[in-house]
Amino acid sequence: MTDIRLYMLQSGSLKCKVHNIKMNQGVGDDYEIPVPFYFIAQPDGHTIIDGGNAIEVATDPRGYWGGICDVYWPVLDKDKGCVDQIKALDYDPADVRYVVQSHLHLDHTGAIGRFPNARHIVQRSEYEYAFTPDWFAAGGYIRADFDRPGLNWQFLSRYVDDYYDIYADGTLTTVFSPGHSPGHQSFLVRLKNSPPMLLAIDAAYTLDHWNEQALPGFLASTVDTVRSVRKLRTVAERAGATVVTGHDPDAWPAFKQGPHYYD
Ligand SMILES: [Zn+2]
Repeated sequence: MTDIRLYMLQSGSLKCKVHNIKMNQGVGDDYEIPVPFYFIAQPDGHTIIDGGNAIEVATDPRGYWGGICDVYWPVLDKDKGCVDQIKALDYDPADVRYVVQSHLHLDHTGAIGRFPNARHIVQRSEYEYAFTPDWFAAGGYIRADFDRPGLNWQFLSRYVDDYYDIYADGTLTTVFSPGHSPGHQSFLVRLKNSPPMLLAIDAAYTLDHWNEQALPGFLASTVDTVRSVRKLRTVAERAGATVVTGHDPDAWPAFKQGPHYYD
């Protein structure tokens, strides 16, 4: 294989309420959101972006996630963890070179420590916050996911590593986009035969958030959240990129889902 492929994958869903996703909207109404993650197959070594929910929640949601299950209930089949999905696509988990984290919330940390040869890339400010979150954000971080022995970490600095080019060939570039969490980053993916994709991740849960018509139902900083959307819109516009929002039940099904891919 010499081509580069972007697979859009899903590690189950979260049952929650509309107001958890769209601030002050649909208060109390039920909502179910997809939990996407991404796999870049690359001849020099593959990348997992995020990895969705940890596989443990397929069998013991409350035991693994605790009280946050009252707000976000994970729905995950036992064979839909990120490792099994990569194997099902016929890739070897040992060939995953990077696990790249947008941030460390519990529905994005399912790949950490699950790929033996991977370097884990995260913003330093996100990693530090995950160990010492403020009270309102604490339920979103499951320490067992990222506080594991023997992990190979690479910490990016918000000051010097914005637009960090992971393969040094433009395939995968980070874009610092704080607000949803203090060290959140989004990603620009450039492919050969497809338009660039801007993976906003949780910097824009849904398209109305992207279109500046709604605030997300969860954030660490309103001002940073709003300004990161503006920044990402500029990046997408300059690159001619298609935006992929983070947890959008309406927009997500329009994208090719694995085993189909973009190349
Ligand atoms: Zn999040």
